[in-house]
Amino acid sequence: MPQTIETTCCISGGGPAGMMLGFLLARAGIDVTVLEKHADFLRDFRGDTVHPSTLQLFHELGLLDAFLKLPHEEAPTLAGRIGGDVYRIADFTRLPTRCKYIALVPQWDLLDFLKEHGAQYPSFNVHMLTEATDLVEEDGRVAGVRAKTPDGEIEVRAALTVGCDGRSSTLRARAGFKVKDLGAPLDVLWFRLPTRKGEDQTMGTFAAGAILVQIFRGDYWQCAYVIAKGSADKVRAEGLPSFRERVSRVAPELSDRVDTLTDWDKQIKLLTVSVDRLQQWWKPGLICIGDAAHAMSPIGGVGINLAVQDAVAAANILCEPLSAGVTPEPRYLQRIQKRRMWPTVATQFIQVGVQNGVIGPALKSGKPLHAPFPIRLLGAFPVLQGFPARVVGLGVRPEHVHTPERPGAARPAAQIAS
Ligand SMILES: Cc1cc2nc3c(=O)[nH]c(=O)nc-3n(C[C@H](O)[C@H](O)[C@H](O)COP(=O)(O)OP(=O)(O)OC[C@H]3O[C@@H](n4cnc5c(N)ncnc54)[C@H](O)[C@@H]3O)c2cc1C
Repeated sequence: MPQTIETTCCISGGGPAGMMLGFLLARAGIDVTVLEKHADFLRDFRGDTVHPSTLQLFHELGLLDAFLKLPHEEAPTLAGRIGGDVYRIADFTRLPTRCKYIALVPQWDLLDFLKEHGAQYPSFNVHMLTEATDLVEEDGRVAGVRAKTPDGEIEVRAALTVGCDGRSSTLRARAGFKVKDLGAPLDVLWFRLPTRKGEDQTMGTFAAGAILVQIFRGDYWQCAYVIAKGSADKVRAEGLPSFRERVSRVAPELSDRVDTLTDWDKQIKLLTVSVDRLQQWWKPGLICIGDAAHAMSPIGGVGINLAVQDAVAAANILCEPLSAGVTPEPRYLQRIQKRRMWPTVATQFIQVGVQNGVIGPALKSGKPLHAPFPIRLLGAFPVLQGFPARVVGLGVRPEHVHTPERPGAARPAAQIAS
């Protein structure tokens, strides 16, 4: 017989959605068990953009000062370089938020931060190296999951199971949820290059047939070289010297350091971009949120933030039934999907528009590019840069924390340390 764990809420996946939801529910005194298949959160190029909307949530939770003590860079503006000219396209400095910038924080630091701060609540349980493999279904509802651990199989039985296991979600597949694939004409190759003194503007460069995004990370650029969907093998087969040349052609000022790329396997990571969403996010006893409900394009770097917003909305809605320790009635799960579907659809609509209207044509183009009229307009009238800043930095329907911190939910400091 597998070992059984009883919990109120079983969360499969310790990414931004799962850790934030687990943190908020445990803070409200609800028993939570988060299962994470990896031993740690150390995965590179996982997306490190923490937007003003997420920073605002940390402010509401009284955690902002602690969060900003983590090593980070701040991007108060975003720029685009087209045909050799640089245009500022988003200015976060006028947003009505506490932090008027995107914080660039390694995703593992964000997740460790939530894990460490969650540890003060006695009902916050995180099981690393534990991979959910199947659903337990009973009496017409999901009653938990089966999971693989280094010590054998376990069963986690819960009033509610939440699939936060990312865009290749096991739980959504096991539940048989239907996925609507919106398609994406691009994939991305991620790598790092050193920065030089005086360079700090996070920027996207659009050239004929190529796009390079450079995210300022202090002593290095986190670079995203955008390629046509499915062309990664071809680009790789052309070899590293050819790839270095491609990068230098888009951003000639980087040609003095592309030689630091010497090992494809270790230094260059492929992100296969997908954009999709579930038609229905829930069934009795189970709901999916974050990438498990909707994989986002990397455009705008909104994936983490949308996942965190889903978690906050889910916690706000689930707090009442889960505090009573009961399986939430379908109407609660319906409310979560209803609340978060609109931001998902609106954000994906914009992303697909940019993919198909700007990125796809730029990748196919053989001719020098010129800045389209809206970009020139943004460059000429800085006040307009607040609009893209709102869309990217705050997103559609930003959430706020309404869950309480329940007296008695906190574990005494001595216990946290042990
Ligand atoms: C290369 C890359 C770059 C990206 N860049 C950005 C960016 O710059 N900005 C941005 O905002 N977004 C970016 N994203 C997207 C962003 O990372 C995701 O949208 C966001 O992390 C989604 O959070 P999540 O918690 O829903 O899922 P995930 O972050 O995918 O987390 C899922 C977690 O579940 C675990 N897991 C999976 N299956 C199981 C299982 N069966 N059992 C237990 N655990 C499981 C995984 O190990 C993982 O820790 C990027 C994504 C990738 C892949």
